[in-house]
Amino acid sequence: MTEQLKPMPEDWRRALAVVAHPDDLEYGCAAAVAGWTDGGRDITYLLATRGEAGIDTLEPEECAPLREREQRASAAAVGVSRVEFLDHRDGVIEYGVPLRRDIAAAIRRHRPELVITLNHRDTWGSVAWNTPDHRAVGRATLDAAADAGNRWIFPELTEEGLEPWDGVRWVAVAGSSTPTHAVDATAGLERSVQSLLAHRTYIEVLTDEDPETYCRTFLTANAEVAAERFGGRPAIPFELFGR
Ligand SMILES: [Zn+2]
Repeated sequence: MTEQLKPMPEDWRRALAVVAHPDDLEYGCAAAVAGWTDGGRDITYLLATRGEAGIDTLEPEECAPLREREQRASAAAVGVSRVEFLDHRDGVIEYGVPLRRDIAAAIRRHRPELVITLNHRDTWGSVAWNTPDHRAVGRATLDAAADAGNRWIFPELTEEGLEPWDGVRWVAVAGSSTPTHAVDATAGLERSVQSLLAHRTYIEVLTDEDPETYCRTFLTANAEVAAERFGGRPAIPFELFGR
């Protein structure tokens, strides 16, 4: 039997999920989010962009508000009502101090114990090249979890009234090819299908398949692969970095 994933920690109340684009969380871990909000946990989504460069046939000015609407509907499907946007430019997000500062500010504002992000590595399981936006936001999020707690790194944030928050206990990376932990996806799986399906405009351009069948097939298959390492239960895997 392959090495089993450990259950994700459950002794936390607030999480902040930080990703580059609308749909990143829905492809990655919305079933886990649904399970967590069922349990009364408070989860905020923070998106670096509005995904305005995601649809070839739509001008960015037209695309941004549409994808924002779809993202808010998508979050609502798994019990998340707070969705914020940093308005970095889609496709050309730069890893660097300004991005770290923006994410650290959000961590100070929301004071999460758990921070969630998406695969920050160069590749998806050494098979496909990752996008520069995912790499930049994932790495900056891992860094900002520490930045948020240090009053001397971004003193301007303290001047804005954002006191340091050193309470992030873990950063969980979804879509990692080296996961360590997992969450049972059974309860949240159907809502995660609806959550991904809320990105309908994007998905209709992406595939000729029936959108709902596409979403269900994709998410179910991923949860079943993880089940092999989680006692046979459909699961959402994470690579967990403790702090
Ligand atoms: Zn993305």
